[in-house]
Amino acid sequence: MAFWKAFEDEAAVEGFREFTRAHVKPVAAEIDREDRYPADLVKLAAERGLNALIVPKNYCGAGCTFRRVVSFFEEVGAGSASVGISLNSNFQAQNAILRSGSESLRQRYLPQFARGLAAAYALTERNHGSDIRSLDTTAVRQGDEWVLNGQKSFITSGSGAGLFIILVQTPDGLGVFAVPREVEGVSTFASDRSETFGLRNGPHVELVLKDVRVPFDHLIGDVGTGLKVVLRNLNFSRTLNAAMAIGLARAAFDDSLNYVRQRKAFDQFVFDFQGIQWYFAEMLTEIDAARLLLYSAADALDQGHEVERHSSEAKLMCCAVANRVTAHAIQVCGAYGTMVNSPFNRYWRDAKTFEIGGGSMEILKNTIGRFLSRLEIAEPLA
Ligand SMILES: Cc1cc2nc3c(=O)[nH]c(=O)nc-3n(C[C@H](O)[C@H](O)[C@H](O)COP(=O)(O)OP(=O)(O)OC[C@H]3O[C@@H](n4cnc5c(N)ncnc54)[C@H](O)[C@@H]3O)c2cc1C
Repeated sequence: MAFWKAFEDEAAVEGFREFTRAHVKPVAAEIDREDRYPADLVKLAAERGLNALIVPKNYCGAGCTFRRVVSFFEEVGAGSASVGISLNSNFQAQNAILRSGSESLRQRYLPQFARGLAAAYALTERNHGSDIRSLDTTAVRQGDEWVLNGQKSFITSGSGAGLFIILVQTPDGLGVFAVPREVEGVSTFASDRSETFGLRNGPHVELVLKDVRVPFDHLIGDVGTGLKVVLRNLNFSRTLNAAMAIGLARAAFDDSLNYVRQRKAFDQFVFDFQGIQWYFAEMLTEIDAARLLLYSAADALDQGHEVERHSSEAKLMCCAVANRVTAHAIQVCGAYGTMVNSPFNRYWRDAKTFEIGGGSMEILKNTIGRFLSRLEIAEPLA
């Protein structure tokens, strides 16, 4: 039996683990070192039916529950968070089109993911990070088309994407658009703020839109509902970030345990020091607890039950645990833990970056605070 309990159908989880073992883990260090978009792995995932898990079967997807998608991302995260975030960008586009797009948009784009379409999700601008309630990038309607202008920053997977999901300002509020890369006026470039120290899947590029024209049905949802569309979608993708973070925490645990059980100091294995075992006891307890919270969030999202609360709690907890575990893993391995050629620095950098991308820890706490403030007061004070 595998050490880490399968929270989904065991055969499915074993399939995800096999994909990670055979294809993802062996290239994780190289992707991180070279900071490259793993186009080959996205294509392979598509061939294996793993790039469109949430997409219903009538659009050529796998039609899985969100819980199963979470399980896939946990396993991929254990191999390479960089590969995981590349696939998560695709998930974000699929989920937005599926839940809020028109039928014509669904038919046009959803089947392409099973054939390897890669996407990116563009909300952030130079002057609008956490606060995306109003934006400088604009869209105006001209006849049957929309014309988009502006620049988006920090766009994960933007170097490999063929489709962009973009939040912009319209005269009547925010709107979300699907924009294929090949449309005239769309370009990307890497700036001095594109290279991160963690979650490296190619530069997090600048996306430039210059008089970009898209058909009317490329608006996802209604004009003025853009914020609602992207925030609803973020509840799902931030739960996948939580899954990847706890996956990498598991990897740090496994690799450090393997090392200390073979490394000797003072004539005994490092693991046999009680002080070292306490680190592992804490790490294991925290990972096990975070995984319970993660899968309870997955169920809440499948059922549409208090989704902001549960997705935020899951990311908050899984990222915090991943940060503690990856730091402890370095500590128990001593100098080996700090080596550039050991995996621990990658785990640590990725865990830290997960605390910011896809919903910073502060914004997650604000979301939970807002949830609490909406609750009715149970018992008024006398
Ligand atoms: C690896 C990575 C990948 C990313 N990928 C994408 C992507 O694909 N698409 C995209 O659109 N964006 C992406 N981003 C951008 C990301 O969404 C933003 O970095 C994030 O929203 C925070 O914005 P900011 O960096 O401008 O921080 P700021 O908004 O400048 O905030 C600075 C600090 O203040 C805190 N803060 C801000 N507001 C509040 C508040 N109300 N209460 C308490 N604290 C607050 C923040 O949490 C943060 O700690 C990515 C970022 C990273 C690091």
